[in-house]
Amino acid sequence: MAWSESWLRWVQMSGGKNDAMNRITIALSKGRIFEQTLPLLAAAGIVPSENPEQSRKLIIGTNRPDVRVVIVRASDVPTYVQYGAADIGIAGRDVLLEHDGEGLYQPLDLKIAACRMCVAVPVGFDYWSSVRPGGRLRIATKYLDTAREHFLAKGVHVDLIKLYGSMELAPLVGLADAIVDLVSSGSTLKANNLVEVEEILKISSRLVVNQAALKLKHAELQPMIEAFQRVVESMSDGEQ
Ligand code: ATP
Ligand code: MG
Repeated sequence: MAWSESWLRWVQMSGGKNDAMNRITIALSKGRIFEQTLPLLAAAGIVPSENPEQSRKLIIGTNRPDVRVVIVRASDVPTYVQYGAADIGIAGRDVLLEHDGEGLYQPLDLKIAACRMCVAVPVGFDYWSSVRPGGRLRIATKYLDTAREHFLAKGVHVDLIKLYGSMELAPLVGLADAIVDLVSSGSTLKANNLVEVEEILKISSRLVVNQAALKLKHAELQPMIEAFQRVVESMSDGEQ
């Protein structure tokens, strides 16, 4: 038995988390991902019984006795799924690129929580004169791996400063020359006198599935994945 399968069995046996029924645990984060996942869940016949914005509960039941939702920090979703504490989850591409670890199957781009990962600088900063082989930049970001890789490919030397939020502040108070952050409308950048100078990646959220759970609970998980897939396809047909 693979390591991940025995770990999954251990997690499931300990604490009576998953009992006789082949219970499915879905890991979601509050906010946009939870809201934009509701129509996908509905298509799979799943309706959460509470709204995590109004409830302090971290484990939320659904209309289906065999399905529950756990509310975790967005960047923790891959960890819960990797260790089998959740069977399935939804996480941004930004988060998945920064997460190292095996045992995660990513069958589907759900095309929700769409935005882009960008480099932004204060208005008037001459970014392109630093972005050349041998150049040097101080970058504040939550996305160290993605930022490092982006600048390495350009031969630019970067000093990376890890922040956990309010990235826009860093260049305004001299902590960094530039930031690497997620942007959707651009209004936060504008309000802080910053401009987007480069797009690094397009971001949306993906389904992540524990590989061992996919085998052990195939009969429960497969129809759910297919229902999500049908909604995503019908949404993108509507866009054309
Ligand atoms: P927290 O806000 O609690 O510090 P977080 O920033 O990781 O945590 P959210 O802001 O809820 O959590 O973001 C969750 C996910 O939504 C991100 O990982 C990303 O994929 C996506 N996202 C983040 N910002 C935007 C945005 N401006 N527009 C669209 N999607 C976004
Ligand atoms: Mg946030």
